[in-house]
Amino acid sequence: MDSCDIVVIGGGAAGLMCAATAGQRGRRVRVLEHANRVGKKILMSGGGRCNFTNLGTTPANFISANPHYCKSALARYTPADFVALVERHGIAYHEKERGQLFCDVSSKQIVALLVDECRAAGVRIDTGCTIENLERDGDGFRLTTSLGAMTARSLVVASGGLSIPSMGASSFGHTLAKRFGHTVLPTRAGLVPLTLSGRHQDELAGLSGIALPVSARCNGVRFDADMLITHRGVSGPAILQISSYWQPGDDLRLDLLPDRDALAFLEELRVAHPAAELRNLLAEALPRRLAQRLCETRFANKPMRQYTPRELKAIAAGLHDFALVASGTEGYRTAEVTLGGVDTNTLSSSTMASRHVPNLYFIGEVVDVTGHLGGYNFQWAWASGHAAGLAA
Ligand SMILES: Cc1cc2nc3c(=O)[nH]c(=O)nc-3n(C[C@H](O)[C@H](O)[C@H](O)COP(=O)(O)OP(=O)(O)OC[C@H]3O[C@@H](n4cnc5c(N)ncnc54)[C@H](O)[C@@H]3O)c2cc1C
Repeated sequence: MDSCDIVVIGGGAAGLMCAATAGQRGRRVRVLEHANRVGKKILMSGGGRCNFTNLGTTPANFISANPHYCKSALARYTPADFVALVERHGIAYHEKERGQLFCDVSSKQIVALLVDECRAAGVRIDTGCTIENLERDGDGFRLTTSLGAMTARSLVVASGGLSIPSMGASSFGHTLAKRFGHTVLPTRAGLVPLTLSGRHQDELAGLSGIALPVSARCNGVRFDADMLITHRGVSGPAILQISSYWQPGDDLRLDLLPDRDALAFLEELRVAHPAAELRNLLAEALPRRLAQRLCETRFANKPMRQYTPRELKAIAAGLHDFALVASGTEGYRTAEVTLGGVDTNTLSSSTMASRHVPNLYFIGEVVDVTGHLGGYNFQWAWASGHAAGLAA
């Protein structure tokens, strides 16, 4: 029977980082990946260019029942550490906006970097490997897999979240965590487009493809970024970000003119163009077709001189405080991340080790730590993988 020091389940971002780190410490490491290749989510990330970190990463960029949990690992493996690795591998990159770093050429380069690091550290990577059984074996673990039986002193669970099942996502890590006595906090799709239905969908019907800057607010959190109207509802960075804070029934508000005082703007228009209709003038500040639609559905359209100050005030309020009634999300099919997961109260924040089972570790997205959009989720994968790789 094969035996090694560490088996890492999942050859994604966190698993490969952990394996390389542990391998560099002289540990005999084996990565078991059930998909036919490693790093599939990395490949599809950042539109094929992988937003591999964010220079502005702070614990405030993460959602978790315990907001302090991520601090230690993030402090010990920083964006600068990963950037140094990227530079050592000669990968060209650029900052797109707000600290988001992307490859100039392709996400494939990040997967190649991780695989090269693993190879140099003597890590064995097995793809297409199904885990059939997993049991405690003294202080270690015994696994039965489609590639044979093996034992390991330590087991690192890096099997990711539930989003994009077609890319290999599975509930393996959550099931295993529960089996070994950990709480798993309820999971749901995050960084996901929102769907509309009924009259709310009708209001935006035919406008798909229109994008505009908005400020999206929900449950005391606010994101300023672009929104995109889709066939089924709304998407774009502002919506993806706020989706992680929204649940059905929650009040979600949009400021459609986040950079303008709408009342001052409307009053100026009334003075400058008293005979012109609102629907035509509003198009100076909003995409034309959206402006026209709003003047059919929310605001009475007429020449500017006919509006009373009270009516203008109401229109301004409607623009700054647009209630978006979403019916749901597009779910795990398109979500970038999974909220919830293995309860951090059952794990050590410095090593990612289980508090219940010696030599068992949970890293990456399977844990209840979820980043905002913008490279934070990979930074968590690198940092948590590195922490476990140093400890296991
Ligand atoms: C479309 C898309 C774009 C994204 N873009 C970005 C981005 O640009 N920047 C960013 O920071 N984040 C991005 N993310 C999020 C990011 O990809 C994840 O947060 C990150 O990959 C999590 O790393 P992980 O190692 O925990 O999980 P994963 O990378 O998902 O890896 C888990 C691995 O475990 C394997 N696995 C699962 N079950 C088993 C099992 N039973 N046996 C063996 N192996 C198993 C999976 O096949 C997978 O390879 C994106 C996500 C998506 C879906």
